[in-house]
Amino acid sequence: MLNLDARTLLIVEAFVLFLVGGLMLLAALQGRRDRTLVWMSAALLMGGVGFLISLVRGNPAWWAWAISVGNMLLLTGHACVWAGLRVFAGKPLRWRGLLAGAAAWLVLCQWPWFMTADRARLIFFSLMSIAYLVAAGREIWPARREDAGSVRPLLIILAAHGLFYLYRMIAGQVPDVSWLRWSDFTLTMLEGILFSISLSFGVLILVRARAERGYRHAALHDALTRLPNRRALFEQGAAVLARAHREGRDMALLMCDLDWFKRINDEHGHDAGDRVLALFADILRARVRAGDLCARIGGEEFVILAPDLGPLGSLDLADRVRRALAEHVSGATGRLSVSIGIACASVDGYDLDRLLASADRALYEAKASGRDCVRQSAGLAASGQPITLAARTRAVEAGTASSATGT
Ligand code: GH3
Ligand code: MG
Ligand code: MG
Repeated sequence: MLNLDARTLLIVEAFVLFLVGGLMLLAALQGRRDRTLVWMSAALLMGGVGFLISLVRGNPAWWAWAISVGNMLLLTGHACVWAGLRVFAGKPLRWRGLLAGAAAWLVLCQWPWFMTADRARLIFFSLMSIAYLVAAGREIWPARREDAGSVRPLLIILAAHGLFYLYRMIAGQVPDVSWLRWSDFTLTMLEGILFSISLSFGVLILVRARAERGYRHAALHDALTRLPNRRALFEQGAAVLARAHREGRDMALLMCDLDWFKRINDEHGHDAGDRVLALFADILRARVRAGDLCARIGGEEFVILAPDLGPLGSLDLADRVRRALAEHVSGATGRLSVSIGIACASVDGYDLDRLLASADRALYEAKASGRDCVRQSAGLAASGQPITLAARTRAVEAGTASSATGT
């Protein structure tokens, strides 16, 4: 049986743990401090100290101390992995659970039989480690589908480490790997090195994937209204339009521009203006369907891209939005209003730029008509389809008949 020197293995293991733990700490302290990485680095460094302490086991004077303190650190290292993933999942730490493994170990070490029962110690240590690994896995388990690329590798790493402990516990001793002829101790040390390196990469991938998702979300959303921004509209809109074209379905584009918005800012302050923008975003969110895309494309300009909405439906939606804002009672800013221009892909073309330009011209017409109203693109108006609805809406509102909605 090829037995690599135990002291050398312990030193290498501790060295690897200090190295990856130190690098993890550096990564954790870069930019915005990432607490998950701080906990992982604590786990690795604690493991490193734990293995260094095991070096003095050979000395009878230090043997009992090394067994109790060394393993307490190794157990707390596993607990820190759990803590790190708990922080990642946005949950509060559980200090009692975090220290329970080490405390239980310390108590058992006061029992002379336990100190001499190698197998009992192995079983208890393995059980506690497996418990922490299962707890750690459970923290990221719910995200396994949406973040599959970053969560699953880490789940596999935790499961493999847990299974190794399970095997050691059940078998009592890992049999030699015949072709390598490695002993239990050698195999345990090498598995520890592999686990610490793969755990570090797994956690870094996990944290980086989330950070990237956050940056991407920030790049595609407006911070004030939390709506998608212009870039998101162009990124998603073209694809949605192309699909609608392929499937022969209509798509409406509504361009909304708040009226006299500069005056609101000037008379009531920028904060009041911001609140009106957020209010209008809420109005939009409450009125669009799940598949519609609402975006803030400029200061007080918003776009709704609504699949499967034709001339009639888009006019109805635009008028509901217009009325919702007009009916909003605000003592702070007085009456609010919005002008809306509509274009439909079936008439104006399945091209985002063309749809935007057509809706923009309709919006310009709405502004020229006195604001607080809805106008359709020239193509839509010429097609004549929605006149009935427009006339009805207007009639309901003002008791008269007209070819457009609003005042
Ligand atoms: P109209 O009825 O013709 O649309 O007039 P308007 O005053 O709404 O249009 P104008 O384009 O002259 O003014 C838009 C204003 O929107 C000017 C700008 O200061 C303001 N604005 C742009 N972004 C923001 C923002 O994020 N917050 C606030 N409070 N104001 C903004
Ligand atoms: Mg404007
Ligand atoms: Mg405006």
